[in-house]
Amino acid sequence: MNHKFTPYHQLIASLHAKDSIRSFRPQTALINLSSNDYLGLINDQALKDEFLHTYQHCTDFRFGSSSSRLLTGNFNAHEQLEATLSKAYKREVLIFNSGYHMNIGIMPALCDQQTLILADKWVHASMIDGIRLAKERGTKSYRYRHQDFCQLNALLDKHHAHYRHIIIMTESVFSMDGDVTDLTALAALKQAYPNVSLYVDEAHGVGVFGRYGLGVAEQMSVMNEIDFLVGTFGKAFASIGGFLVCDEVIKQVLINTMRPVIFSTNLPPINALWSDFIFQKSSSLHKKRQELLDNAKYFIQRLKELGYQCPSDSHIIPIIIGDNNQTVALADKFRSHGFYVLPIRPPTVPVGTSRLRVCLTADITRKQIDDFLHVLGSFQ
Ligand code: PMP
Repeated sequence: MNHKFTPYHQLIASLHAKDSIRSFRPQTALINLSSNDYLGLINDQALKDEFLHTYQHCTDFRFGSSSSRLLTGNFNAHEQLEATLSKAYKREVLIFNSGYHMNIGIMPALCDQQTLILADKWVHASMIDGIRLAKERGTKSYRYRHQDFCQLNALLDKHHAHYRHIIIMTESVFSMDGDVTDLTALAALKQAYPNVSLYVDEAHGVGVFGRYGLGVAEQMSVMNEIDFLVGTFGKAFASIGGFLVCDEVIKQVLINTMRPVIFSTNLPPINALWSDFIFQKSSSLHKKRQELLDNAKYFIQRLKELGYQCPSDSHIIPIIIGDNNQTVALADKFRSHGFYVLPIRPPTVPVGTSRLRVCLTADITRKQIDDFLHVLGSFQ
């Protein structure tokens, strides 16, 4: 055997031994409770037909952009998508190929030795990678305890005089616990310090929260307080890509210095057309949003009645089991009853909190929720 690959074989063997191996799975015909298609738009044939009918003869109906946006990859479709978002959020908007590109690229482009990042301990891996890259530019960072604004305030108090710019990073709806951040409280904290900004990732909030589906910041009426409001198209908006709502000067800096913008082929124009189309549709889907969140409330309440502690106040609902093997066994049991819900284990979540992570979508009915909870009840 060739020894140069020995450590890789050992790694895979140890992941198998810990029951932690990851692999791709085929699509199934089961009821999907692990999808981010929160508004249930991805399989909507009428929407697809309307999109094709409207856009198939448009010059931007192209499946590739053939270069970086700063070279020849910028099309009307991209500008149009930004204009639509900009009209809705009433600020400048810059789009990105994915939420991951966005979160790894913004911080390194904006931060320097005079910047301090204060991030919630549980922010998404893409933001953590962005912070790591910013460190190469001499940026300091601290992770405060999850949702602990007292600790955050103490950190602000201690450090605000020593940095030009302090950026607080959080998610509006946390992806593993489904808890919703009190952005009003964060906005109030920020206002106490002139050199503090807020970076809020609304990946799981856009499309779901707010009268027009602009996210938790819209719902809490603090959109103007969020200096860097980022969202993704890959979840409720049934597409692909990321976007940042920000000031004009920030957009200019990012266009000029952000490496994922400069060095990657731009999003295919057809994706920008589709995102624009869906975003405009979704603003009128308030009833769907309401039903989804009502179903989530009902689910959480029933879960608590079954004796589970549940930190969620959204459509992302963890069923915390603790033990890895038991969690996997429960996922298998649900599969045999027609429900597809994936187990989440460490290191994605803290040790001892393995869970099934239920993502409700607008497609799931009350009856299906009742059936699901019935299976859960019989497992105890
Ligand atoms: N931010 C958060 C909070 C996420 O959950 C995700 C995706 N899981 C991303 C960013 C990355 O977005 P994308 O999938 O568009 O790369």
